[in-house]
Amino acid sequence: MHQSLNKRVAIIGGGAAGFFTALSLAEQNTSVAIDLFEKRKEWLSKVRVSGGGRCNVTHHCFDPKQLSEHYPRGSRELRAAFHAWQPTDTIAWFEERGIDLKTEVDGRMFPTTDDSQTIIDCFMSEVAQHSIQLKKGQGVESISVTAEGQFLLKLDEQTYENYDAVCLALGSMKGSSLEGSIQKLGHHIEPLAPSLFAFNVNDSRVQSLSGVSVPKARVWLDSIKQSQMGPLLITHRGMSGPAILKLSAWKARTLKDQNYHFTFYVNWLGVSTHDEVLKAFNRQRIEAGKRSVKNTPLFELPKRLWESLVSYAQISNETTWSQLSKKAEQSLITELIAGRYEAQGKTTNKEEFVTCGGVSRKEIDFKSMESKCVPKLFFAGECIDIDGITGGFNFQAAWTTGRLAGTAMAQI
Ligand SMILES: Cc1cc2nc3c(=O)[nH]c(=O)nc-3n(C[C@H](O)[C@H](O)[C@H](O)COP(=O)(O)OP(=O)(O)OC[C@H]3O[C@@H](n4cnc5c(N)ncnc54)[C@H](O)[C@@H]3O)c2cc1C
Repeated sequence: MHQSLNKRVAIIGGGAAGFFTALSLAEQNTSVAIDLFEKRKEWLSKVRVSGGGRCNVTHHCFDPKQLSEHYPRGSRELRAAFHAWQPTDTIAWFEERGIDLKTEVDGRMFPTTDDSQTIIDCFMSEVAQHSIQLKKGQGVESISVTAEGQFLLKLDEQTYENYDAVCLALGSMKGSSLEGSIQKLGHHIEPLAPSLFAFNVNDSRVQSLSGVSVPKARVWLDSIKQSQMGPLLITHRGMSGPAILKLSAWKARTLKDQNYHFTFYVNWLGVSTHDEVLKAFNRQRIEAGKRSVKNTPLFELPKRLWESLVSYAQISNETTWSQLSKKAEQSLITELIAGRYEAQGKTTNKEEFVTCGGVSRKEIDFKSMESKCVPKLFFAGECIDIDGITGGFNFQAAWTTGRLAGTAMAQI
């Protein structure tokens, strides 16, 4: 019980954002009684499975502007917020608690233990040192504001609790029991759509190439200006890897509207242009004119992929570089730098996925994460219309918004 404490606050959602809000608040004001509600039987369940069980805590990017560019939704608001709490702060926070993070070549940061349990243990040990009451297996069914300006939380048919302030850290708003309450409080929910998914592609060019990957491909929908670049992995269902996941994030709403049936293009060579490929072909004609096109992969493309694209361009196994017709050459160049593919559905990536959409950013003050509609109502994490691409950006958004919310709640 919290009899000696002044104010009572509730944080709803025992995930990354909820824990970070609770701890940030408790660190900065020891006289607030904090109840942390989690409807499930387990705390921090997404942290546990995150990053393939290793927890990609944040990203090695320390410039707020650059960092904010990794968020298809919420970039502008987060840019300012990152000035208050960014990856350097996250790293230092964990370091102060004896947890070192390491950086992988692509910038993702993990605990040196390569085990998400390290992060969970850290949070649980911190919580035990503060006046935070953990209410596990306790979902909140609705929230309303009383005439006195207090928050009334309905826990079940018989149980109601009063609080001075509330932070919603609910995670994805998909199917949330609190959607109605949030709307009644005056907030809008931006349309929800999955983000970070692989494309299902049933196409002879990639059908038997599951496991083949290229380190730097460029992919786009209808405009190359909005292309995404990165490793691309051919899977048994189609295409995945950072380039595809990034495109799925930036185009999450468009692709949902198209029911995940859409045309997209792949430049298997990343940045190479038509003229550069043509030059390389001309060199081949001079230097390896007698060799078969099919047996001399260029641009360090995986052999099986090269062979498949050559066949698709209707170049026979025997055709040599000097015999390559202009028409066949053009077909192969198209296949290499602007191959057209049809996606027929999506596959959610088991490593990491998030929901695009959620509580409208317009109605939240990003200095404090306080609602602009209801005083002393705060938001943190994925329930807001914010999402990042893969790489630790989603947790960083949870830490940053949680920190801001916790800091502001410490002043109530
Ligand atoms: C498989 C997977 C792997 C991922 N890996 C990474 C990664 O390595 N790095 C990264 O940056 N991001 C990763 N993400 C994304 C990241 O997990 C989320 O962005 C992050 O968890 C969001 O934190 P959150 O606290 O806002 O939401 P959540 O972690 O979803 O927590 C919200 C909590 O609120 C609870 N809740 C909801 N409604 C109520 C209610 N009414 N009453 C009580 N409790 C309620 C939910 O049960 C949940 O536990 C991954 C996602 C998935 C699915």
